[in-house]
Amino acid sequence: MITPDLLQELAATHGTPLFVMDHDELRSNYAMFRRHLPRVQAYYAVKANPDPAIVKSLFDAGASFDVASLPEFMVVHDLIRDLPEVERQEWIWDKIIYANPIKIDETLQTLDRYKPLVTFDNREEITKIRQFAPNSGLVLRIRVPNTGAMVELSSKFGAGPGEAVDLILEAEKEGLTVEGLSFHVGSQTTNFENFVQALNLAALIFREAKERGYDKMFLLDIGGGFPAPYDASVKPFSELAKRINAELERLFPPEIEILAEPGRFMVATAGTAVSKIIGKAVRDGKLCYYIDDGVYHTFSGIIFDHCQYHLESFKEGPTQICTVFGPTCDALDVISMAEELPYNLERGDLLYSRNIGAYSGASSTSFNGFPPAKIIHVNR
Ligand SMILES: *Cc1c(COP(=O)(O)O)cnc(C)c1O
Repeated sequence: MITPDLLQELAATHGTPLFVMDHDELRSNYAMFRRHLPRVQAYYAVKANPDPAIVKSLFDAGASFDVASLPEFMVVHDLIRDLPEVERQEWIWDKIIYANPIKIDETLQTLDRYKPLVTFDNREEITKIRQFAPNSGLVLRIRVPNTGAMVELSSKFGAGPGEAVDLILEAEKEGLTVEGLSFHVGSQTTNFENFVQALNLAALIFREAKERGYDKMFLLDIGGGFPAPYDASVKPFSELAKRINAELERLFPPEIEILAEPGRFMVATAGTAVSKIIGKAVRDGKLCYYIDDGVYHTFSGIIFDHCQYHLESFKEGPTQICTVFGPTCDALDVISMAEELPYNLERGDLLYSRNIGAYSGASSTSFNGFPPAKIIHVNR
C-alpha cells in the first residue's frame, strides 16, 4: 500500500489533483486471482482502466485481455507491435477476446485478419460477423441474473436461455463456429449466488447444445464482476473462488477451457486520488469543502459507476460530517454529502481517496476548464 507520507511527497512534487497508481498492488491482485482460481485464465477488462502502463504491467505478469473497441484493442496491440506478423497474430488469437456483443462494421473488418474471438448475443450480429469478420471464433453471451450487483448489465446484453442454442445453430448454418459461452453477473457482485446460478445455467446450455447435435464448444468465459474490497461488508475473494471452483469442477470437464474478464478486481485497490482543498464555506449550517477534483474527473465513478468513495485527511483533528464538492460550477459536482473529516482543515490542505483505480479517470473530461488529474505510476 502506498503510505500517506509517499502520497504527500508525490503531491508536493507533482501538484494536485493527482492520481497515483500502485503497480505492486496491480501485480498482487493479478497473482491473487490466479492463485485462487488456478483453472481460470484472466483476461483483464481494459475498460476498467485503459492506461497503457497498467495494461503493460498486467501483460508482463502474464494476463490476457478483454477489449470492447478498436482503440482498446490498439492499446493491447501496441505492446506486441514489434513481434513478427505471424507471432503477433498468434498472440492476439490466444490472448485477446473482443467482448462487446455489438460491434462496429469497420472494427470487424480491421480485426478479421487476426481470427479474433468475439462475443455476440443476437441474429443481426451473426449476419454482421459473417459479412465483415468471417474468420472470427464466436462466443455466445447469455443473460444471467445480476441480483445485487452494484452495476447491472443484464438489461443491455445477453441471449435468453430459451434462444441460446437456436442462435448457436443459426451461426453454424451461416458457416461460423460458436466456440463457447460467456456471461457477466454484474459489476461489483457481492452476491456470490449470481456466479453459482450463471455457471449452472451455462452448463444447461452446453448440455442442450450437445443434445441437439452441436459439440464444438470448448470454452466458458465467466466474465467480470469480481468484487473489490471497498469496505468490510465485501466477503473475501477466497470465499467466492472456492464456490466458483466447486461449481466448475462439478459442471465442466477439465477439457473445457475457463476464462474470465476481471476489470475492477485488478485495478480498484491500486488507485489513489490526492486532491487539494481550494475553498471552504458553511451552507445551511453544514461545513462544505471544495476540492480540485470532482465527478467530471477522477470521481466520475460516483455518477457512472454508482460507486461512493471515501475521503481521508492527512491531518488529524476533531471531526464532523461535511459536504465535499468538486471544483466546477455544476451542482451535480458533489463528491459526498456526508463525509467525516476534521473541521479545522484549511485551504491548501490535502485529502486522499483510496480504492479509486477502477472506472474513475476512465470517463474524465476537462469540463469547465479543469484538467484531469495528473497520473503517477509507482513501481516499488
Ligand atoms: C465491464 C465488463 C467487464 C469487467 O467487469 P468488472 O465488473 O469490472 O470485472 C468484463 N466483461 C465485460 C463484457 C464487460 O462489459
